Amino acid sequence: MSLLLDERRRAMLREMGLPDWAPLAAAGTAAAAAAERADASDPAPPARGADAILAASPGAPPPNGPQGGGPAPAPADPVGPRARAAGGLDVVAPTAPGAVATMGWDDLRAAVAACRACALCESRTQTVFGVGHTRADWLVVGEAPGEQEDLQGEPFVGESGRLLDRMLAALGLTRAADGEQPPAQRVYIANTLKCRPPRNRNPAPDEMARCEPFLLRQIELLRPRIILALGRFAVQALLRSDAPIGQLRGRVHRYQGLPLVVSYHPAYLLRSPAEKGRAWADLCLAAAVAEGAARAPHPDTGAAAQARRAEPDPEP
Ligand code: SF4
Repeated sequence: MSLLLDERRRAMLREMGLPDWAPLAAAGTAAAAAAERADASDPAPPARGADAILAASPGAPPPNGPQGGGPAPAPADPVGPRARAAGGLDVVAPTAPGAVATMGWDDLRAAVAACRACALCESRTQTVFGVGHTRADWLVVGEAPGEQEDLQGEPFVGESGRLLDRMLAALGLTRAADGEQPPAQRVYIANTLKCRPPRNRNPAPDEMARCEPFLLRQIELLRPRIILALGRFAVQALLRSDAPIGQLRGRVHRYQGLPLVVSYHPAYLLRSPAEKGRAWADLCLAAAVAEGAARAPHPDTGAAAQARRAEPDPEP
């Protein structure tokens, strides 16, 4: 973690009205140590004092969505079979199998909005595609929309969304799609599932599988420098692992060649504030990885992909 990043975080802390707080350096050191332990099985210890940054508002309401709890879905199949129409359900695939893999942002957003590939289309208010700038170095992947997300059409709103925004702001990051921030300070946020499960029940494996091509395409289009997967279902969908988050966090994984860091869902942190220190350490690890990746050639090295990144910024 560079001195520049520490100064930026300290500035953010001052803006948040928090003391310029000594254990922050320890958090950065812990993250750097964790980065050095990338792919080691030994999880990082929690960073002390992180509650000063991650403090949730008192009286937080129950979280929306299944975030962080419930049984694990079975690992999904590869992309092709997932795009098949649902047997026995009165739903239809929005596009020909495989078409999602070639879509641009506009077509992808329209395909999600029109999607009836699983039964969740019957109960949703609207789909929740994603938010942020499509030239972002960071991608945050959550689980499924909750009640407010379903109503507002944006991921991570409500109390857990505000906690996530505070965590990101402490590192100088923003989900805002406008403004002059460089890609290194932009975050794109998407969910694994684009429609809300009724009564915030856990996503079904079949629903996760049918929806996953959309997230895969978002990742292909974005090609972020770092993926931060929050919550059990997001982690299991991306890593194909049934291991608990506590065993997966604290090290760097790979997803399609991109570095991926695992952490707890903010809704879980609201229920379990003792875990905020570990979440802060995870965020610092992700920042250290992103900084390192920023000094390396961008992983998006294909000719077509490079041309895509050289295009003028599209509408987010
Ligand atoms: S959850 Fe995904 S696959 Fe199911 S209807 Fe919504 S967009 Fe389509």
